[in-house]
Amino acid sequence: MFDFIKKMFSSEGKVKDPVCGMTVDPQNSKFKSEFKGTTYYFCSEHCKSQFDQNPEQFINL
Ligand SMILES: [Zn+2]
Repeated sequence: MFDFIKKMFSSEGKVKDPVCGMTVDPQNSKFKSEFKGTTYYFCSEHCKSQFDQNPEQFINL
């Protein structure tokens, strides 16, 4: 039951923090960086700064 609600709050529309792998909701995330035309979202300032220092290390996984 309530499958339709679960679906609304599932990973749809969510993105992965490329640094730690956590699921991030782009609409609520304050931490984001743009790299090569793609916007990446992060769970924390820490992950964002890690990414900013060396983006390619995280997107070439
Ligand atoms: Zn993170």
